[in-house]
Amino acid sequence: MNSSDDEQTESLRAETRLVVSGRDTKAQRGFVNPPVVRGSTVLYPTADDLHAHRGEFQYGRLGTPTTRALQNALMALEGPECAGVGLVPSGLSAISTALLSVLKAGDHILVSDSAYRPTRNFCNGVLARYGVETTYFDPSIGAGIAKQFRSNTRAVMVEAPGSQSFEMPDIPAIAAVAHAHDALVIDDNTWATPLYRRALEQGVDISMQAATKYIGGHSDIMFGTISANARAWPAIAETIRLLGVCAGPDDVFLALRGLRTLAVRLAHHKQAAIEMARWLAARPEVARVLHPALPSDPGHAIWKRDFTGSSGLFSIVLKPAPKEAVDALLDTVKLFGMGYSWGGYESLIIPFDCTEYRTATNWAPGGPTLRLHIGLESLDDLKADLDRGFAAFNAVAR
Ligand SMILES: *Cc1c(COP(=O)(O)O)cnc(C)c1O
Repeated sequence: MNSSDDEQTESLRAETRLVVSGRDTKAQRGFVNPPVVRGSTVLYPTADDLHAHRGEFQYGRLGTPTTRALQNALMALEGPECAGVGLVPSGLSAISTALLSVLKAGDHILVSDSAYRPTRNFCNGVLARYGVETTYFDPSIGAGIAKQFRSNTRAVMVEAPGSQSFEMPDIPAIAAVAHAHDALVIDDNTWATPLYRRALEQGVDISMQAATKYIGGHSDIMFGTISANARAWPAIAETIRLLGVCAGPDDVFLALRGLRTLAVRLAHHKQAAIEMARWLAARPEVARVLHPALPSDPGHAIWKRDFTGSSGLFSIVLKPAPKEAVDALLDTVKLFGMGYSWGGYESLIIPFDCTEYRTATNWAPGGPTLRLHIGLESLDDLKADLDRGFAAFNAVAR
């Protein structure tokens, strides 16, 4: 960290670091927030400086005071294991950039079966075309992943909990095996954020965020971040530079603004989602709630060991019912919007079916499945909204 305000932040708690880190009051001329620096060209004062590429900033794509502020704030949040943070235009580009930084033709990668579906699409589409082979593994595999390693396995991609289905992999156990085979561990930590899971302290080498979700927090940006330890950071930095990916200045600013309130928003999402999950678990229409913070969840012990909190996203399995009944529920609820993405201040609901994109596990939940994001609305209003939805569901189902 190079800004004067950041020197004392390591001893502070995460909530405080979220507020004060990445702030350079002197350079910001006293303003609390950094300016939105728009720029391509950076002028060098002398020919000597130009020849030596001397100066804090060289070219807009390579960094600005605004990107530096966000990077410093994210590094402070990740903790001392973090050697650098790359900023990219979307969560998916964080995944693709991370994968391209560690893999080359002839390599093999192990990917969790419940990884975000576009992660699979990138592996099956782009990586396959460039001669990298992917094997999907059951997220409950733990140290048993050793059997899946080949002499050319270079990386393992994990996600906890799994997208949509919320299985909880044992990342420290998987990481120990990966490192014994000299492979790197890449982790999608979007659900918990570095606030609720310090991935780089649990054996992960590269931890990425779809900052589109909780870091942005307001459904108004597309953004991705890649945090890496000292072993992985040089390759991440080089790949970002070679690919030429960079994020727009307004989105960088909004990501930093979102980060400042992450702790209070997540605390509300966590509490509201747990209460809603319990309320749903008690409903006659619901067969199962998939939420690792509930003691009944198969992933609960791992969640308790590795996480310090949970977020607002979970899924439910309904008792068997026709599609028309589920559609009636979806068409009746008003506060729960139907739409992709999550992590904003608003509640969302979406039906899903993983059958097509699970190949190492068998997805057979036994009823229709819905993914819910619990936003910042009054929980009473949200329950009333779902009550009306279930009434419409029952009117069709019976
Ligand atoms: C949304 C999401 C992504 C992709 O982020 P975008 O910003 O939409 O590209 C990656 N991983 C997970 C777990 C996500 O939910």
